[in-house]
Amino acid sequence: MRKSFRYRIYPTPKQEAVLEEQLRLCRLVYNAALEQRIWFWKKRKLTLNYYSQANELPAAKREHPELTLVNSQVLQGVLQRLDQAYQRFFSGAGFPRFKSRDRFRSMTFTQTGYKLLERKLKLARVGEVRIKLSRPVEGEIKTLTLTRNSSGHWYASFSCDLGPNQVPMRPVEAEVGIDLGLLKFLTCSDGSMVPNPRHFRESLARLAERQRKLASKPKRKRTRNREKAKLLVAKAHEKVRNQRSDFHFKLSNYLVRGYDRIVHENLNIRNMSKSASGTLEAPGTQVAQKSGLNKSILDAGWRQFLEILRFKAESAGVEVIGVDPRNTSQICSSCGSLTRKGLREREHRCGCGLEIDRDWNAAKNILRLGQSLG
Ligand SMILES: [Zn+2]
Repeated sequence: MRKSFRYRIYPTPKQEAVLEEQLRLCRLVYNAALEQRIWFWKKRKLTLNYYSQANELPAAKREHPELTLVNSQVLQGVLQRLDQAYQRFFSGAGFPRFKSRDRFRSMTFTQTGYKLLERKLKLARVGEVRIKLSRPVEGEIKTLTLTRNSSGHWYASFSCDLGPNQVPMRPVEAEVGIDLGLLKFLTCSDGSMVPNPRHFRESLARLAERQRKLASKPKRKRTRNREKAKLLVAKAHEKVRNQRSDFHFKLSNYLVRGYDRIVHENLNIRNMSKSASGTLEAPGTQVAQKSGLNKSILDAGWRQFLEILRFKAESAGVEVIGVDPRNTSQICSSCGSLTRKGLREREHRCGCGLEIDRDWNAAKNILRLGQSLG
């Protein structure tokens, strides 16, 4: 099983200059290789493949000695990336594009050119860069990818082989159904609920505010103010992303510790946006759903959360079941009859006497569906 471990690294200004130069050289190689492929196609009606281009690297280095600043395997990786872009093109995607500085942000190392020390990441031709190992690296490191994000921060991502992973499934003693929503992040079939974390909502509000500011700057002029506003938006985005993953990891750990079987609704985009438009009516409480963009962030959030949950569950022997979301909020979890309710109705009230929170009722139904499948 492969798993990635991502950490922020802190190059000194001098180290950063070398990294930037390496990234620039990789980008030049990418663009030159793309140009070469286009030329070959125009003149000879032939397509160069990865191997023919990789074979030319030694000669290219003799001609341009500055290329020796970049690890050979990294350069090969650049050509592989172009090859993959071509393969995607052949199977119907768009034609590979020349990369600007903003669109070329990462370099991938395979076996050589780096070494992970206790608090440093040793990089050939760069030196020992400070790394913040927020959690230990597990398994055998297969590749290292260095990325500069849009706020100018650098990250090291290790892809590791954890070996064959066969965790025996835990016997099902405790199980839970979870309903994902906008007003609360999730509601459990036992009636407990998890709100969206407050700091996350605040970051979302800040992001929305900065986006409004950026939108007010004239687009056609590349002014300093606009560039500054753009950077602030990128930083706010990053903050939201980081806080969200942190929240997802903690919540997944909590659920996996407490339950042997977890049942959730299969995400279905139409279903989600329908419930989103329904909760727009609850004013003021959730900054998140006020703009379409933030809604899409939430949507991506559910997806990411379920991915993390599945991953955590797999390595703990916990069963995760996805069920059909149809009617889970309409059916009565006590008597099984259909009780139509509008999107704004937050309570489930049924003739049988059951009166509970709408999402709690849905979570109970989700659990029952999972039990019938599990
Ligand atoms: Zn009922």
